[in-house]
Amino acid sequence: MSENYKLIMESNNIYSNNYGDKANIEMPPKRKIAILTCMDARLTPSSFAGLQEGDAHVIRNAGGRASRDAIRSLVISYKLLGTREWYIIHHTDCGMATFTNEIMVNQFSHEEDDEKKQDQWEDFKAAKELDWLTFKDPAESLIDDVKTIRNHPLVPGYIPIYGLIFNVKTGRLEEVNEANEAGMVLETKT
Ligand SMILES: [Zn+2]
Repeated sequence: MSENYKLIMESNNIYSNNYGDKANIEMPPKRKIAILTCMDARLTPSSFAGLQEGDAHVIRNAGGRASRDAIRSLVISYKLLGTREWYIIHHTDCGMATFTNEIMVNQFSHEEDDEKKQDQWEDFKAAKELDWLTFKDPAESLIDDVKTIRNHPLVPGYIPIYGLIFNVKTGRLEEVNEANEAGMVLETKT
């Protein structure tokens, strides 16, 4: 086992010993919040947003993008588990702004004619078929994603969708008016 594995198990042992009343936390998020954010290791939503176990759903992927799978999670989050406020949080210095679809696909480049490299050719084709959801500017990607979610047919108009940018230099959540406006409630719940 790796050193990390051992450290994780040791830390978890301490956590579990102090678990106490957390055993009684119910499944639906208590504060009815869902957050979609980037997997970036510098972002810890429980710390920067003051969340405790049981408070919120946190959905993460590379970039915090409104991918099909992120939307799947958000729809389950409201429909079955009662969340009523969504926060889309992108951040400064995101790795997803440092490459393009083309650069990503070229990580799998190959010699097309070389039969020995058939597997690599398959990888290359698979990489080309994926949209890697890269972007240039976090505010732009944020506004795009809020709009995508707001306009999705399975997302009800009564859920406010807030768009924020986490600044990795200050730890501050910065408001993006255009994103918040795009995510405004369209209707009240009937
Ligand atoms: Zn990121």
